[in-house]
Amino acid sequence: MDAFLYRNPQRKSNDREILSPKGLISTILTGIQLIEKHNRLGVSQKCAWRTFMDIQHDPLLLQQTILQHKRQGKTIGFVPTMGALHAGHTSLMDIARPLCDILICSIYVNPLQFAPTEDLSTYPHTPELDHHMCREHGVDIVLRPSTLYHPLHNTRVEVHELTNGLCGASRPSHFAGVTTVVARLFGLVQPDVAVFGEKDFQQLAVIRRMTEDLAMPIQIIGGPIVRDESGLALSSRNAYLTPTDKQRALSLSRTLQYIQQTIQNNGGCASVADLLQQARTMLDVDSLDYLEIVNPVTLRPLDRVDGAARALVAAKVGKPRLIDNLDVSIDSPSPII
Ligand code: AMP
Repeated sequence: MDAFLYRNPQRKSNDREILSPKGLISTILTGIQLIEKHNRLGVSQKCAWRTFMDIQHDPLLLQQTILQHKRQGKTIGFVPTMGALHAGHTSLMDIARPLCDILICSIYVNPLQFAPTEDLSTYPHTPELDHHMCREHGVDIVLRPSTLYHPLHNTRVEVHELTNGLCGASRPSHFAGVTTVVARLFGLVQPDVAVFGEKDFQQLAVIRRMTEDLAMPIQIIGGPIVRDESGLALSSRNAYLTPTDKQRALSLSRTLQYIQQTIQNNGGCASVADLLQQARTMLDVDSLDYLEIVNPVTLRPLDRVDGAARALVAAKVGKPRLIDNLDVSIDSPSPII
């Protein structure tokens, strides 16, 4: 019966509203049509019924629901997002879906990770499309709270060192905001597995560190970057790009590819400083925040590449600040010239 209940976000109480008889009949008919469609496509009934997705606005009610699921031995998968969903986000849902019984996606633009000068108030907002995409990718429950924090919230979770460089250098309070919200979300959702994108490579490293340091029993999985056909990494902030700036933004991925190709062609890199100097000339951006090659675990800058390495870039192109990165490792290092 729960599938036919929904909660009206306008209401102050935590009660759920029951659909009117007309709404209930229409919901059942839609369900039957979906099951017929899924049967034609060979999708299982279990999966078809997943199209009845719950949208929960109250984090503590979600926590209670999840506790019930966990008591029944169900496993929980989790994909945290800030909404304005695209194929990068849904790729993470597709990774998580077969790994859990109940898949939760949170949609919450976390004020703690935005500096006063950043785009919190104008962050893209596409709730209807977001819900549709979640439903299409097998999400069971969307958590869309108006706030995640208790009015007396007074705890910060911070990872040191890993957050000093790269994005942390120009956004000093950003990662403490990220780890604080992710730690709280983990407490609410209690996932067995959580999937984050490699698009935010530093964020993924920081969350892995936090999860390990705080002994959280959660498997963290990194999902590969999803790009459009031109190579631009998908991002909610691409919505701010003008057509001209979109063309210029392609210089980010092309520069990273140039670095990767040069390293591969030379069997490594004896001088990262020289390579980066050359690569910087390819960038068509308004202001470069950083272009670096780092150790993918410690995120410390490398002088030379003779094994695992990641190239990362952040720059403003028109209105948005964009980030991208690429694996530039070499598997079997040969003598570097
Ligand atoms: P966001 O909504 O920007 O906070 O992103 C939510 C999650 O989606 C994060 O784990 C991001 O790393 C991931 N993500 C964003 N863009 C992409 C992309 N193009 N490919 C893969 N994952 C992505």
